[in-house]
Amino acid sequence: MPLVSAEQLTDFSSRLYRATGAPPDIADFVAQTLVDANLGGHDSHGVMRHESYLRQVKEGVIQPAMRPRIKHRHGAIAVVDCRRGYGQVGARYGAAQLRGLAREHGVAAVSLANCNHIGRLGEYAAWLADEGLVGLVMVGIPGALVAPWGGRERVTGTNPMAWGVPTGRGPMVLDFATSIVAAGKMNIYSDKGELIPEGWVLDSEGQPTRDPDKLFEGGMLLPFGTYKGYGLNLMMALIPVLLAGTVPSGAKGADLYGNPTLMLALSIEHFGELEDFTAMADELRENAHRIRPAEGHDLVLLPGEPEERARLQRQREGIPLPERTWSTLQSLAREWGIEPLVADR
Ligand code: NAD
Repeated sequence: MPLVSAEQLTDFSSRLYRATGAPPDIADFVAQTLVDANLGGHDSHGVMRHESYLRQVKEGVIQPAMRPRIKHRHGAIAVVDCRRGYGQVGARYGAAQLRGLAREHGVAAVSLANCNHIGRLGEYAAWLADEGLVGLVMVGIPGALVAPWGGRERVTGTNPMAWGVPTGRGPMVLDFATSIVAAGKMNIYSDKGELIPEGWVLDSEGQPTRDPDKLFEGGMLLPFGTYKGYGLNLMMALIPVLLAGTVPSGAKGADLYGNPTLMLALSIEHFGELEDFTAMADELRENAHRIRPAEGHDLVLLPGEPEERARLQRQREGIPLPERTWSTLQSLAREWGIEPLVADR
């Protein structure tokens, strides 16, 4: 598998986004967030996305040079119109608006309308936590890919959510899809020619399968955590979607490509001392690390720590790209007229 440094991959990705007509700051930012997902071990939300983003540029779904703006503000609430630009740009702008509102009011909410795929939600939750806030980011995806608990047909999207809280050692981030895993993980397994674990996907007939490609042949993901995860998935299918002014999956006019998003923030300093909060969070972390690990675990981890470990390793060793991803990136380079990607190894 070719190994590429984060710097090489970011430079390549930025050149690709500039070729779509994105101004340099937007191209750099989108490139950096996607490569950061690879660094954190979430290849499903890394440079593998170039192919679909560039297709959406060609289809006019993504407007590469478009910048978000406030649609309206009411007290501690703002609605941001992302104007179909790159979703990452809208999400970071929304998070910055949210920070200002939360600092002013103690609690705030920002909804992102007309928003394309924002990538890893944890990125924005971490950014909010770095600013001394509790951040919660929720996305309801109107494209149906997930079966409800007890069902054998697709009804909802993978509807992810991320929480970020400050600790003395940086943000603690919990970030996941409310389907068993993100749909993009099936592409990764497929690219590597591997079988998926049991309990992730049903085929189009509603039968369990370990073939990742079955998801894209009319199959469906299961929700995480039985009926509780299904319930969360359903809430996410409604709340961010309706507040962003669109309609849930299955309804006429659903924004199939989009990421209607709701971001909430609490300013810890409006409740008490930030230092007390972070000290207690650190104590919780240390208590968890101290306990005896169960069989098959070397340490009890906290949310965000698997990503920290991956980041350290990939910064040191480079980012491995499956052959199929590698060749897709090289054909995108030819198609968009930029210099090819160079592997370190
Ligand atoms: P996942 O199943 O890999 O779970 C990741 C979460 O679990 C992280 O918070 C991680 O720190 C935590 N975790 C994992 N192992 C752990 C352990 N041993 N101990 C403690 N915590 C642990 O994630 P996923 O559901 O496949 O989602 C992957 C990414 O995809 C997320 O970043 C999500 O935001 C993103 N996503 C985005 C969209 C979108 O449309 N924008 C849709 C779906 C998912």
